[in-house]
Amino acid sequence: MNTDKLSNRLETVAKYVQNGAKIADIGSDHAYLPCFLAKKGTISLAIAGEVVEGPFKSAARNVQSEGLADIVSVRLGDGLEVIEPGEVDCITIAGMGGTLIATILDKGKEKLQKVMRLVLQPNISASSIRKWLLDHQWELIAEEILEEDGKIYEVLAAEKGDPYKPYGNTQLELELLVGPFLLKTKDETFKKKWRMEKENWKRIYSQLEGATSSEETELKKQELLEKIKMVEEALGDENSERS
Ligand code: SAM
Repeated sequence: MNTDKLSNRLETVAKYVQNGAKIADIGSDHAYLPCFLAKKGTISLAIAGEVVEGPFKSAARNVQSEGLADIVSVRLGDGLEVIEPGEVDCITIAGMGGTLIATILDKGKEKLQKVMRLVLQPNISASSIRKWLLDHQWELIAEEILEEDGKIYEVLAAEKGDPYKPYGNTQLELELLVGPFLLKTKDETFKKKWRMEKENWKRIYSQLEGATSSEETELKKQELLEKIKMVEEALGDENSERS
């Protein structure tokens, strides 16, 4: 990967950045995404935010050596603290856990007033982001799922709007877990991801069955059974053997 050629994962994130956008790429690492978008002429301005000194320096080096310092500003700081209110209209956050992404958005809520679009790529726990979006009046407008180098990734795009619009009336819990758009399409990558998750939950369930019973383990087992059932129904695997 470099500033001319992104991974499929980051290319999918790039696809949802609108022409002429002013972006903040939080957790930018090498600043590949903002440099790629600047070189393509997609964006008019970018802030590459990094909380760790090493990646911050590597981002600054890349921006300098590509001659992109007029467009891409590299800033050291935690989450959205690197941007001023109104400075950007699109935020990208990729390659972290969904819980961390939701925490970054939550801690920087006051910086989001002029932001029109969020493009988020959690490595795990996309449901934490869907829940945060739902609670904060952000409407999920698109989702993608892709496999690269043996890992499955989800990309979520959201805009301010009706947060309930993509969700139906009857299966909110399932849609928050697997994604309302991805559930409609149910492509092979989606099925592979959730069959793997299901097998993992079954393994954990068996381990808990061998553990000393307590209120906590019984609750956890119940939770796992519910999730297994929900995902089996979504996949059309209802008749497969449980636990
Ligand atoms: N976004 C790039 C990508 O998707 O390829 C880099 C992903 S890298 C795995 C995650 C980066 O996020 C790391 O460089 C890490 O230092 C940075 N990071 C983690 N927490 C952060 C935070 N609260 N604020 C800014 N950057 C953060």
